Amino acid sequence: MKKILIIGNSLSAWSIASAFVNKKVNITIIGDKNKIFGAQQLSPNGFRALKKLTENNDVKQIVHEIVKFQINSYNNNNNETRNLKNFYFNEFDLKYFSVSKEMLINFLIKNVKSKIQINEINKSCVGIIQRNTEKLEVLMDNNEPISADIIIGCDGVNGITRKYVCGTTKIVKKQVFRGVSDDKIKLLLEQKTLELNFSSYGHIVSYPFINNNKKYINYVFIPNRFFQNSNELLNKIKSIPKFSTIEWNEGYFYFYEDEIQPLYKNNVLLFGDAGFCFEPHLAQVGNNIIEDANYLKFLLEKNNLYHEIFENFSRNTSPKKRKLKSISNIVGISFGINTLTKLRDNLVSNFSDQLICNFLKKVWYD
Ligand SMILES: Cc1cc2nc3c(=O)[nH]c(=O)nc-3n(C[C@H](O)[C@H](O)[C@H](O)COP(=O)(O)OP(=O)(O)OC[C@H]3O[C@@H](n4cnc5c(N)ncnc54)[C@H](O)[C@@H]3O)c2cc1C
Repeated sequence: MKKILIIGNSLSAWSIASAFVNKKVNITIIGDKNKIFGAQQLSPNGFRALKKLTENNDVKQIVHEIVKFQINSYNNNNNETRNLKNFYFNEFDLKYFSVSKEMLINFLIKNVKSKIQINEINKSCVGIIQRNTEKLEVLMDNNEPISADIIIGCDGVNGITRKYVCGTTKIVKKQVFRGVSDDKIKLLLEQKTLELNFSSYGHIVSYPFINNNKKYINYVFIPNRFFQNSNELLNKIKSIPKFSTIEWNEGYFYFYEDEIQPLYKNNVLLFGDAGFCFEPHLAQVGNNIIEDANYLKFLLEKNNLYHEIFENFSRNTSPKKRKLKSISNIVGISFGINTLTKLRDNLVSNFSDQLICNFLKKVWYD
């Protein structure tokens, strides 16, 4: 029986473990306990893939439907917010959701564990050793080696597996603020609405989600390039009445500047952010992790030669990621401008519903 070591224990680790539930393999997941926070958007491609991957209709019970996408622009000269565009997903038969990250990962864990036995090691590892062409070892933080036939790197952008497979990678680091609120009035206002707010400091995305039967609003604020790492930033954003009470947690997001790289080398496969990571403006990186896991499950059902499967997986998933990477970059630039904002706002307010629908479908399904 093949021994597979998955490094990392977050979304990509449990998604890829789900892809192996019908194979006779011995899986060990290595990773420290995570503090999971907030929510993510689940677009129709991600939702459909999650249902297929887990073969479980209960997925409906962990998601919260979003029916409206509202785009606003805040003008800091007169303190006014202008509504530019409202788009209703159901008018085009599109289903859009939010999901608590904790509930999504727990759903995947429960589903995998109900089908196969998984060994878990709550530690981190520090390196990969290639003893010979067939024999791999993972070195744990206490120097103990663990052998494997296949290693799957789900250890994120800055992980050790990316370095092993791709060597040096150009990683871009950007500041981001996140917040979660359970303010009842705001919840009422933002019921089933995904909001995108432009401001001269950056853009803010907010949407409601449910975690363990309680409703919250998830906020993400991405400062534009003029305000990245500015000392006055938080005061500026708190001066916008709508966001004055949010407790922002500062963090960073990372993405690869390099061309999309091959994901497989010497029995080590990169998966999730460790393999592909582009800017988060399309809310697609996590959705693509679930889609990729479902695609890998499909490949695994048809073939037993792991080497061939992983090479096909690496080759066939790259074109979509290449395209999403460039669209996301252009979207990020237009969200973050602070000159010609009137032109952008007028353009957005004149977008037809059909145009938005076509754009979303291109991002999700092409
Ligand atoms: C601001 C923002 C908003 C986003 N919004 C959305 C959205 O709405 N929809 C969407 O689909 N996606 C979204 N994403 C993307 C999505 O959140 C990520 O793609 C996804 O969470 C990545 O999961 P992962 O498991 O690959 O990596 P990570 O979540 O980074 O997990 C890596 C894991 O590996 C572990 N690890 C690292 N090194 C080691 C080691 N040496 N040993 C053991 N364990 C190790 C870490 O502890 C961690 O648990 C967003 C991203 C950002 C930044």
